[in-house]
Amino acid sequence: MMRRCGILAKVRPLVDGTGGKGCLSKISACTLSLDASSKPAPLTALTEDELVLKDMVSKVASQRIAPLVKKMDQEGKFDPSVLEALFENGLMGVEIEQEYGGSGLSFMSSIIVVEELSKVDPAVAVYVDIQNTLINALIRKIGTPEQKKRFLPLLAQKMGGSFCLSEPQSGSDAFALKTVAKKDGNDFVINGTKMWISNSDVAGVFLVMANANPSAGYRGITCFIVERDTPGVSIGKKEDKLGMRASGTCMVHFDNVRVPEANILGEFGHGYKYAAGFLNEGRIGIAAQMVGLAQGCFDATIPYLLERKQFGQSVFSFQGMQHQIAQVATQIECTRLLVYNAARLQETGANFIKQAAMAKYYAADVALLATSRCIDWAGGVAFTKDFPQEKFYRDCKVGTIYEGTSNIQLNTIAKFIQKDYGQ
Ligand SMILES: Cc1cc2nc3c(=O)[nH]c(=O)nc-3n(C[C@H](O)[C@H](O)[C@H](O)COP(=O)(O)OP(=O)(O)OC[C@H]3O[C@@H](n4cnc5c(N)ncnc54)[C@H](O)[C@@H]3O)c2cc1C
Repeated sequence: MMRRCGILAKVRPLVDGTGGKGCLSKISACTLSLDASSKPAPLTALTEDELVLKDMVSKVASQRIAPLVKKMDQEGKFDPSVLEALFENGLMGVEIEQEYGGSGLSFMSSIIVVEELSKVDPAVAVYVDIQNTLINALIRKIGTPEQKKRFLPLLAQKMGGSFCLSEPQSGSDAFALKTVAKKDGNDFVINGTKMWISNSDVAGVFLVMANANPSAGYRGITCFIVERDTPGVSIGKKEDKLGMRASGTCMVHFDNVRVPEANILGEFGHGYKYAAGFLNEGRIGIAAQMVGLAQGCFDATIPYLLERKQFGQSVFSFQGMQHQIAQVATQIECTRLLVYNAARLQETGANFIKQAAMAKYYAADVALLATSRCIDWAGGVAFTKDFPQEKFYRDCKVGTIYEGTSNIQLNTIAKFIQKDYGQ
């Protein structure tokens, strides 16, 4: 049986920016528990806290983000008011503990936030996703007390972070990276160029994977916390992308960037483990982004099909259309089950790597199919920028590429199958 505490009823107005600050922390003050005799819940069942959260994020998305989606896509950057709305409503520090000014919620809550935002703008969702599932998660779980005290309040309340792994020569083969960190007294001096770094145009801090002991191969890769204003850090070329255009993707250059040893995040030489491990969690976030994106596109399309008349009847009413629509609805539902299952596994501490890879792989394919079909169903209007489908279609394509391409997810899944069958 779920227990609900009275504090949920007291959540202040969340959306107008007047009473929203820190509002998620009020939700998290509730403790939920399952009665020992309770039956396993359906995968789509959300706790009361999660339902309140979902509703709140949906309101933030429709009131503070939706009116700016087109403009941000055209201009290729976030509107400052959108970033403010995310911080004000606790969405940038979903799992950060309340003592550091975060919302103190669960991993599943981060997934719900990403899914809901993606229904309205997947580009905004990727900013929130990387912050919660990679940047905050790494600092929360492997940071020193001093690092947590310094960075978590900033990340929860006003500062975005970027995850710097990929380089021009190392994408899927991420640990072939060339950025180095050379010890010099009590400092390390970082040199190298990172590529494809999401949100680096607005980030205040970078988690940088650099090899601090190249003779040890990938076992020299170490994670460093580098603040944006450190001398030698510069943001390079912004990519002119097909989709997710509001989320800036840039090169980041590190030229003799000197950081103290205290800026090593986690253990020296364990960067490759952290990158691989935390990207497994990040993939569930990207899968949630793709489910939200597919659902958002579907939701924007069906009402039009019910209204639009051809041959004297709504285009929805043709059986040929209905079968396709039902098929896509089923695939979106399947994807959501994969995503929620992977997220719940993560929360229980079970191994979720195969399920995360399956969720990400499948979600990217379904998002591509769903958005493509939505354009087919709505016809010519959906091929224009006056309708939302074309943006969803452009945005979804990166789902098969970032945080591990679809082939890399299939490699992971195949490794588990081989192991499961005894080899
Ligand atoms: C919009 C965007 C945002 C990004 N954000 C970030 C970020 O914030 N931080 C960051 O570090 N990186 C980021 N990336 C980089 C992203 O993670 C890489 O693009 C991705 O890992 C693939 O690398 P690649 O593009 O170099 O492709 P490649 O690795 O060159 O792959 C090319 C093709 O070869 C296939 N391939 C490669 N190896 C294998 C194999 N072993 N088996 C089968 N097929 C294989 C791939 O599946 C792909 O089809 C971002 C990328 C994009 C496009």
